[in-house]
Amino acid sequence: MLNGLLKLIYDLNKSGIITIQRMCFTCSNYQLEQGVHYCKLLKSQLAENELRIDCQEHELQI
Ligand code: SF4
Repeated sequence: MLNGLLKLIYDLNKSGIITIQRMCFTCSNYQLEQGVHYCKLLKSQLAENELRIDCQEHELQI
């Protein structure tokens, strides 16, 4: 359920409906491989409940 909510927030953000800018899904440090979330900055896998929507270390994808 949390993953679905995060996906919804991501889609709303991409559509310009909301302006959250610092979530994992829009971060250049974020990777998703074979269903595993990973943060290159933290050098750590992220459980779904560890995905962030307002991370101070966020780096926007360009
Ligand atoms: S730096 Fe923050 S926003 Fe970016 S992937 Fe890591 S935990 Fe997520």
